[in-house]
This record gives sequence, C-alpha cells and structure tokens, in this order.
Amino acid sequence: MFKKIDHLGIAVDDLAAAVELFRDTLGLEYAGEETVADQKVRTAFFPLGESSVELLEATDPDSPIAKYIEKKGPGIHHIALRVDDVAKAIEVLLGKGVRMIDTVPRVGAHGAKIAFIHPKSTPGILVEICQRGDE
Ligand code: ZN
Repeated sequence: MFKKIDHLGIAVDDLAAAVELFRDTLGLEYAGEETVADQKVRTAFFPLGESSVELLEATDPDSPIAKYIEKKGPGIHHIALRVDDVAKAIEVLLGKGVRMIDTVPRVGAHGAKIAFIHPKSTPGILVEICQRGDE
C-alpha cells in the first residue's frame, strides 16, 4: 500500500532562516513555498531524491505547528508516506484498528490528498499518508 517516504515535515519557528540553512548552507534544491490556509502553515519544499524535505512554519498561534513548537520545540513533525489512493488507505487502516486523525482525506500543499494517522496508534510519530495527482 505504501510506495515510499513522500516527505519529512520539519517544524521551524523561522522559515526564512530555515530556508537559508537548507538552501544556502546545506545546498539542497529549493522548490518554492506555499501557504496552506487550512492548516495555518507556510511550507517550503526541497526535493531530495525520491522524497523531499518540507519545512513548516505556523501562520497563526492556533496552528498545529505553533502548538507543536510550544510543546516540543522545532524538529521533525511528521513523516509522510505515499499511497495511490488515500481514501482506500484510510479504509484499510481503520479496518485494522488504526486510529486516524482524519477519516476523510483533506487537501494539503500542492493539492495533495492527505490524512493523518493518530500518534496514539504509532510509537509517538505523526504519520501522514498522501496521494498526489501529479505523478
Ligand atoms: Zn506533510
């Protein structure tokens, strides 16, 4: 069901500084930024091999990213696993007793369909499953 690690989501408190680090200091390819209003985040993308690094900055104190940083500080926020059909994947996971944050797909950056598995069902890891229409 899972194809690959689609991206790593990294929570940052200063997106401009983090972009500078990943692009200029580390030399990763920079593919631009996008605001996802629904999740109250601004994201920056760095394609890297089969996967990518996604930096996430809160755009609102209410953002899940703001809350995460408040509790745990900046760092790896989630791992995203690619699937062909996120609705089907949700159904399969629910059928296996996996707790889902999203039981219906929602729209993430780049128009991807995404859903989050509840970290109570994983060893404390927030796992996103994601389906992209562009491939
Ligand atoms: Zn993500």
